Amino acid sequence: MSVTKVGLISILIAVLLLNSFTTLIIPAHAAISIELEEFRWNRFPISVYVEMNQWSILDYAPAIREGLDNWLKAIWNYTNAYDGQSLAMISYTYYVKDINSTGNPDVIISFAPYEMSGKAVGLTTYKYDDTAHEPITPIIINITTHSATETDIFVKNVAMHEFGHALGVGHASSPNTENGPELMYYASSKSGIIFPSTLDVYALTQIYQGHFGQTTQLPSSVPYVMLPEGAIPPTRMPQWQTYLQQYVPPIAVVAIFLLLSLTVVAYVTRRKTDASRSPPIPPPPPTDSNSALRAPELQIDNVKTRFSKATSAKTLDFRPKRAEVGLW
Ligand SMILES: [Zn+2]
Repeated sequence: MSVTKVGLISILIAVLLLNSFTTLIIPAHAAISIELEEFRWNRFPISVYVEMNQWSILDYAPAIREGLDNWLKAIWNYTNAYDGQSLAMISYTYYVKDINSTGNPDVIISFAPYEMSGKAVGLTTYKYDDTAHEPITPIIINITTHSATETDIFVKNVAMHEFGHALGVGHASSPNTENGPELMYYASSKSGIIFPSTLDVYALTQIYQGHFGQTTQLPSSVPYVMLPEGAIPPTRMPQWQTYLQQYVPPIAVVAIFLLLSLTVVAYVTRRKTDASRSPPIPPPPPTDSNSALRAPELQIDNVKTRFSKATSAKTLDFRPKRAEVGLW
């Protein structure tokens, strides 16, 4: 029987760290580790709902989205440079209260007035099924904004850190990478530019290889760096959607062609029938009795041929347009 467990992860604000990053001794690469949570997502896109309230301003919504996008960018960067193609399916959809809505969000992001327990500025609360190692939705993320006075970059960085937890990544043991702060360290000023590190994305690759509830370290072949911003990856659709996009337009064109052909045939046949009914019916000539019937048959064939050509030309115009619509 599956057991539901509840986890709380928080980050601590530590203003003192602001000036002490440069003086901290960075442990050797191999000694730096990161925690792996007990779950990973198997269903995408993850629907994320931002619940605006009196402790938020609308500017936070695009800032949080930017923070979430940074995870997709980091995953894309990492998988292109190193390994982890299994992460290509990770995606999310974004909803903001009073702008768009979703029925049952997988992740709810909300805002709180003061620091939560232990001076945490961000808090992720989750449940998971420890047999399936899947989250039980919704995962709740709270961000402290006092009276909506925190800066966009603070909110973005806290959301980025907490979304890392929502994806199943725990805390990293080092405050710094070789080229910048470590996003998944439990404490930082959270007011500078920050992106997920190679270690953070490596952690994701590990939970998708079935390593749960343990710590892991980067392989020596991968440098411990904060990943560059990079670009949002193109959407990777499930294979059945790719087939749909590929085959539905030509099938639709063929169906329309057949329907119109049948209509034309029915129309011409009806005219032929009407003509045959109209009195007076001339007596068949004594010789070459079939020539009068052959002519309409030839006409039908001509109509079909013309129509077929026109439909083929439409098909060529149609398919590239559909392909463009499929991109985002
Ligand atoms: Zn944390």
